Amino acid sequence: MAAAEETSSDGPKPDEYAERKPAFTVVCLGVGGGPLETNCSCYLMKPTDATWEESTFMVEGGSFLGTLASLLRDAGKPDSPFYDVSCDENDDEDVRAGKFNALIRSALISHGHLDHIFGLVLASAAQRGQRPIYGTDDTLQTIRGMFNGRHWPPLASFDATDPLALYHLRRLFCKQTEIIAPNVQVTPFSVSHGKSLIPPEEGSEKAEAVPGDSNKLFGKDVVDMPSTAFLLTNTRLERDVLFFGDVESDETGNTMTNHNVWLSVAHLFVKKRLSTIFIECSYTDAQPRDMLFGHFCPKLLYQDLRDFARCVVAYRKTGNAESTDVTDEECIGALSGLRCVIIHVKGLVIDCTKFLNRNHNLCTSYEGAPLFTQAIAAQISDHEAEGRLGVRFHIAKRGERLEC
Ligand SMILES: [Zn+2]
Ligand SMILES: [Zn+2]
Repeated sequence: MAAAEETSSDGPKPDEYAERKPAFTVVCLGVGGGPLETNCSCYLMKPTDATWEESTFMVEGGSFLGTLASLLRDAGKPDSPFYDVSCDENDDEDVRAGKFNALIRSALISHGHLDHIFGLVLASAAQRGQRPIYGTDDTLQTIRGMFNGRHWPPLASFDATDPLALYHLRRLFCKQTEIIAPNVQVTPFSVSHGKSLIPPEEGSEKAEAVPGDSNKLFGKDVVDMPSTAFLLTNTRLERDVLFFGDVESDETGNTMTNHNVWLSVAHLFVKKRLSTIFIECSYTDAQPRDMLFGHFCPKLLYQDLRDFARCVVAYRKTGNAESTDVTDEECIGALSGLRCVIIHVKGLVIDCTKFLNRNHNLCTSYEGAPLFTQAIAAQISDHEAEGRLGVRFHIAKRGERLEC
């Protein structure tokens, strides 16, 4: 795994990375996609040229305060991800987490699945003042559904004047930029996250059921499950990071949504504003295509990165990322300098093909969980060895700090 975690066929020299000042500091509170509740998607970020006090925001709200508390136990120590946070010695870790929580300006949520919101919901009870929660209408409607007085008290609202609105739900619109913290801007893109078996509540504006046999899963009607990719911009440094929420490939989704993201950001990569992409790879290549459930496997991820490479080459050649006249040969090394941080690896995956009477050999069992990460690292490394796009892959770890 060690060899695969940082791999590149034709990457830039380390000093080339050093030349570019990172845009954001990211501390990974949770990098998985369940079922372990201790490692679900949650990232604390700040511009690299700001302190945590000045401009902290969170992306995804899975394993939040519990992990934050355990990481703040060693705050201020040199090998802590929060080495630059000073805490009162007399404060225990819970108090430290509570104080740090008060610094967080806003939250950005990609979609309403529980592994991306449960920590945020629980933390509302500790909220002082009002915190903006940004997401698409679909995401925010799902979050509001959790604050229905039954799952949890109604502490979230679209109405900022609601005295109970500790979370102020603020809608994001595709490709419309929004300032979410001092010197931090987000540009959202709609992406596809497979199909959902559960239809939306009556009266919801979103996700109408699509008729037809292709829109059945296990014989049941499904609706499109939308998710979001966020282009995060440090406006002072004019540098960007691209963060994908849960997402499937354009091939399995039969969409062009990822392609549209690549078209929009190709020029940022060429201009060296963008050098880190967070993107999921939930399953290994052994997962049958029809059982990816709106997620990536290494092969499909590499296929979509090749599409990004084509857009980058096209932009370099013609100034237009949409140009189609790009050969595979020209893509070799096209993404040199790109770091791809792989997130949302599924842990403790059960062999669902067994209970569905399917004959596939998947990585299974509790003992198999670390193997799953290793298999994904090895497989993506193999795809890079063959495709030679120049991407450096890194599998995110819970509790690590990244400068991007
Ligand atoms: Zn997820
Ligand atoms: Zn999801």
